[in-house]
Amino acid sequence: DPAPKAITSALDPRFAPTLYAHVGQPDSHTLAFYRQHGGYTAMTRAFKVGNDAVIDEVKKSGLRGRGGAGFATGLKWSFMPLNDGKPHYIICNADESEPGSFKDRYLLSEDPHQLIEGMIIAAFAMRASVGYIYIRGEYVLAAERVWAAIHEAREAGLLGTNILGSGFDFDLQVHRGAGAYICGEETALMNSLEGLRANPRLKPPFPAAAGLYGLPTTINNVETFCAATQIMRFGWEWHAGMGTEKSRGMKLFQISGAVKRPGVYELPLGTTFRELIYDWAGGPTEPIKAIIPGGSSCPMMPFTDKILDTGMDYESVAAAGSMLGTGGVTLIPKADCIVNATWNMVRFYGHESCGKCTPCREGISGWMTRMYEKLVRGGGKPGDVELILDMSDNIGGKSFCALADACLGPVMSSIKLFREEYDALAETGKPLYPARKRWRDE
Ligand code: NAD
Repeated sequence: DPAPKAITSALDPRFAPTLYAHVGQPDSHTLAFYRQHGGYTAMTRAFKVGNDAVIDEVKKSGLRGRGGAGFATGLKWSFMPLNDGKPHYIICNADESEPGSFKDRYLLSEDPHQLIEGMIIAAFAMRASVGYIYIRGEYVLAAERVWAAIHEAREAGLLGTNILGSGFDFDLQVHRGAGAYICGEETALMNSLEGLRANPRLKPPFPAAAGLYGLPTTINNVETFCAATQIMRFGWEWHAGMGTEKSRGMKLFQISGAVKRPGVYELPLGTTFRELIYDWAGGPTEPIKAIIPGGSSCPMMPFTDKILDTGMDYESVAAAGSMLGTGGVTLIPKADCIVNATWNMVRFYGHESCGKCTPCREGISGWMTRMYEKLVRGGGKPGDVELILDMSDNIGGKSFCALADACLGPVMSSIKLFREEYDALAETGKPLYPARKRWRDE
């Protein structure tokens, strides 16, 4: 878990971030630092306005889930039953594993109190008394810092019974994953928390109706809880005043691949790909042919002027044929073999499939992975691309959870955009763009 080198926007003098305001500063993870910088005032305000008013403010702010799906946060919170006499849970999904996504990691390790404050606010609004933070197993430093922050918060009376005399009781627990991507799927995550194998559950029922231990539960991403802290601190109008009409607020965009300044950039939703890539990330390091807009499950898009001028908001990226997802942008160089690059993603999904349903287990982990390996290793034959398309048609929409469909994102889009590269491999066994020597091969 190396030191966070990839954060650039928080250290950029042109920039005044909020979610990442403390990232990169010495001792930013401590309670003393957080309080010196206005920490835990949002929570006090939430206690003052009352639980229903908090949900109302989050609704009016226009905040949408930052884990990738963009579901309206205030609406999700309002699904939790009121006064049903049952225990309620909230869960922070900190199992960030989508290839190309690395924004939550630094929120956890550099500003854990911002997350804890957001979870207290959310728990207060939804009448929850226990919260869990499910942290990706590989995020060692992040988990240590979050645990330490929870201990500090408990000692300061910010967690536990009768928090700061408000009459509200709430405590947090950390649960560490063990390296499985599927644990980020919210129902698999709950099974994992319960000590079961992390197989996804069928939805509906959604977690607010039957979640952890069958009780009302709300799961949000790390960035979503942190945004709730900022909304309660600066007011819903402040948040609603940024971004586009339907995609409001700031977003942590990540950029990686063939780009000069890879990193995390906190920018308003609706900022164009061009601005992110050229104004913030310094431009590509070499000619580019494709952009993955929001983590590997989001279909690739061509690197054209039209796409570069597309706003990074949920609606504009969907209209351009892909998804905003986690906002994890990856640039794929022209000189790279797209079939090889896609194989890399297919292998990932194949390896991470839980194996519960046949289309994913046999289709992705089995057939699709073997087909790509055969093609990339030069053993393809005419008709292979049609076979992949036919298999995709049989897998898409027929699996138990979104994992198989996520794999089809890069598969279908790369075939649609770069069919000639697939055909070359299938017909001649030779790639149009031979593999290049990379640092990792040295
Ligand atoms: P989803 O659309 O099924 O659900 C999003 C959220 O809204 C969930 O919490 C769900 O319970 C809730 N929801 C949706 N419809 C509802 C309804 N009718 N009633 C009540 N609640 C409802 O999406 P998902 O499967 O949770 O997430 C998919 C996204 O996750 C993808 O778009 C991808 O970008 C992203 N993703 C992120 C990561 C990561 O590391 N952050 C990893 C993989 C995928």
